[in-house]
Amino acid sequence: MPEFDAIVVGAGPAGTTAAFAMARAGARALLLERGEWPGAKNMFGGMLVACETPERLLPGFWDDAPWERYVTRRVLTVVGPESSTSLKHESQRAGKEPYAGYTLYRPVFDRWYAERARDAGVTLLCDCMVEGLVVRDGQVRGVRVSGRADGVIEAPVVIAADGVVSLLAKEAGLHDGFKPGDLALGVRALFQLDEGELDRRLGLRGREGATYEFLGCTEGVRGGAFVYTQLDSLSVGVVVHLDALTERRIAPYDLLESFVGSAPVAPLLQGARLAEYSAHLLPEGGASMLPRRSAAGFLVAGDAGALCYTNGLTFEGMNLAMASGEMAAKAAVEAVGAGDVSAELLSAYDALLDDSFVMKDLKTWKRAGAFLKRDQMFALYPQLIEGLMESIYRSDGRPKQRIARLGLGVVRGRASWRQLLKDGIAAGRSYL
Ligand SMILES: Cc1cc2nc3c(=O)[nH]c(=O)nc-3n(C[C@H](O)[C@H](O)[C@H](O)COP(=O)(O)OP(=O)(O)OC[C@H]3O[C@@H](n4cnc5c(N)ncnc54)[C@H](O)[C@@H]3O)c2cc1C
Repeated sequence: MPEFDAIVVGAGPAGTTAAFAMARAGARALLLERGEWPGAKNMFGGMLVACETPERLLPGFWDDAPWERYVTRRVLTVVGPESSTSLKHESQRAGKEPYAGYTLYRPVFDRWYAERARDAGVTLLCDCMVEGLVVRDGQVRGVRVSGRADGVIEAPVVIAADGVVSLLAKEAGLHDGFKPGDLALGVRALFQLDEGELDRRLGLRGREGATYEFLGCTEGVRGGAFVYTQLDSLSVGVVVHLDALTERRIAPYDLLESFVGSAPVAPLLQGARLAEYSAHLLPEGGASMLPRRSAAGFLVAGDAGALCYTNGLTFEGMNLAMASGEMAAKAAVEAVGAGDVSAELLSAYDALLDDSFVMKDLKTWKRAGAFLKRDQMFALYPQLIEGLMESIYRSDGRPKQRIARLGLGVVRGRASWRQLLKDGIAAGRSYL
């Protein structure tokens, strides 16, 4: 009899949740992590949406988890060549309840979360690199790991939660390699700033936090940028589509550097100390990237299953990773209990995903993902918005004009009406 009911690969939010949920259901889960500790190699923007999954596994989760700040302010800024225009949302419910989510520092959060899973009965093995799958008679039976005498661990089910570059999902035949158009690259710098100074500079109190998203600041490369507040640091980054980056032959760190020095960001960082640089890929292709997320003896959760999306307004990955991890655990426990881990039985996981907010949200924003592949969103439209806002606010002694007339003047010579109409229809179909 195998020592474990399932092997979970990767102690990020998807893997730890999957192993945690299995332990809560009385199953034996082995969680393998290549890093020295869970989170040692992990980074994100980032804000974790105040989701229910971890609270279900660990009541009081949000009171105890080592989050940095609770987000009370969200700002979206469109950056033009010489000015920027922002949409700010601030909640009066700030401090009374978790409103949007929490900012986190992954090396601390992931480690703490995996420790709680261990308390619940998960066996956690760090410094353990999974190199491939053990497959017999068309069924996944275990994994090959480095640093063990025989190099093989077997269990009825393997849950791959090994992140976006999941070699295991590919080896199991769920995809034949993601294309550059399906992936984005995030580069991020962490700037240390005294907590009191950060509060003063951004007008925050106590543990209040803010997220700032930017469009139009990536030198025309498809993508965006962000600044998120942690307790005594600012997480500053740029996320760009990999294919656009390759086409434009721009080094991602140059984009980050120019964002850091840009007018809306530089004043926030004055006197802050650069503490760390990191880079990470993320799936951008959404619902269309993987047709299936299960095979005989095998399930794939989180980024490894391309369960992550942005629609330009929100960016969600960690909560989808946790939710999919919980569903993978449910399907695995049921299949192991039934003594049948065939592709047919484990496809219950695909059904659970389809029925949940995870796939529904990915499908809802599928068109938005495609809409954001239009180059003009990142250069032309920021310029048009800048032109319109400047002409609204300009007071030069000449009679004022209605906004439609001002718009006509701004668009003339810069874009064709045909293009605006096409983009307008696409925007309507993506967001309305
Ligand atoms: C720049 C950036 C900003 C982001 N901002 C946000 C945000 O604000 N909000 C949000 O919700 N999401 C955000 N995301 C997305 C979010 O980080 C991911 O969706 C989430 O981390 C996915 O979790 P996961 O557990 O599937 O994968 P990961 O977090 O990537 O974890 C995978 C784990 O597997 C381990 N591993 C990998 N290969 C192996 C192997 N062969 N053997 C053993 N272990 C292995 C890794 O070390 C890692 O611990 C952002 C991502 C990036 C890159």
